[in-house]
Amino acid sequence: MLMTRGVSDAFLAVSASASSRSLVVPALGTRRRFFSTLLLPSSSSLSYSSSFHFGACRRLARRASTMDGRTVVRAAAPAQKLENADELIDSVETFIFDCDGVIWKGDKLIDGVPETLDMLRSKGKRLVFVTNNSTKSRKQYGKKFETLGLSVSEEEIFASSFAAAAYLKSIDFPKDKKVYVIGEDGILKELELAGFQYLGGPADGDKKIELKPGFLMEHDENVGAVVVGFDRYFNYYKVQYGTLCIRENPGCLFIATNRDAVTHLTDAQEWAGGGSMVGAICGSTQREPLVVGKPSTFMMDYLANKFGILKSQICMVGDRLDTDILFGQNGGCKTLLVLSGVTSLQMLQSPNNSIQPDFYTNKISDFVTLKAAAV
Ligand SMILES: [Mg+2]
Repeated sequence: MLMTRGVSDAFLAVSASASSRSLVVPALGTRRRFFSTLLLPSSSSLSYSSSFHFGACRRLARRASTMDGRTVVRAAAPAQKLENADELIDSVETFIFDCDGVIWKGDKLIDGVPETLDMLRSKGKRLVFVTNNSTKSRKQYGKKFETLGLSVSEEEIFASSFAAAAYLKSIDFPKDKKVYVIGEDGILKELELAGFQYLGGPADGDKKIELKPGFLMEHDENVGAVVVGFDRYFNYYKVQYGTLCIRENPGCLFIATNRDAVTHLTDAQEWAGGGSMVGAICGSTQREPLVVGKPSTFMMDYLANKFGILKSQICMVGDRLDTDILFGQNGGCKTLLVLSGVTSLQMLQSPNNSIQPDFYTNKISDFVTLKAAAV
């Protein structure tokens, strides 16, 4: 039997097959230091009780919250083209925007973004910006928004670097324990701001291992968590160090900022994403990570708690189906796919795609143009 967070109010009982894997998921929104073990089956192995009405089952399944960053049951109804922007705007109080492909592309602002954000703010909407990119801290992202001429406060920005630190805070991770970081500067900055001790990060980028007979690598036994994010300076030293901490330090947590397969470092091709670094550690430890970035619902739960908002009053806007739209659906929010980033209409409508947002449109400035056209 399995009970997923987020559906515990209705007790969605699901029988799990033998392919289930065990994850340790801490209670969120509390400051208690306990962990509850739950079983997460792969989506293909779910089989619902026949007494469950299919519609109710699907709604509940869409709200299922996971922290492995992958497991989900998806909605099947095809996405609708956004035609009445006002109706969607009026139906929610908060918009969560992904950044790359929605607000900007690389270092270029997408057309019509400033006017759109101004219009939403003038209607009293809360705006939140969420990114899986952990290489920058909130402060560093704040500077990027400023450079692009957008007035966005640090409080409105949630990067997965911040989510890693916020997660450790939410479980009262002991301040006398250390965090080993496989990742870049953004994670270190957020851990420092949260008051956690850390080691690793860019400083281990040029470390090499010389394998001599009998060589044994020492590691800090006080490391209580390994955080893994996108890392351009990933190397074997980091893999071995992180592996030793997870395998040999009792209770050591394995936290991933995200499991993105690819990322867009340049516009010429897709590059291996944070999921490749996480995958290496999964391979050596045979453990699954706790994922704090999209599509895991940790950030959504955090935002809902912080701002006191109902998830049904949120619209998640993103350009990726497997992270942004899944993130919104896992959180029980409305979802809008924009075609200004990595997903084309052809990809959305492909028979191979089973992730369908509520709505899709070309870019977020359609909120303004569709509104003007309707007047
Ligand atoms: Mg994006």
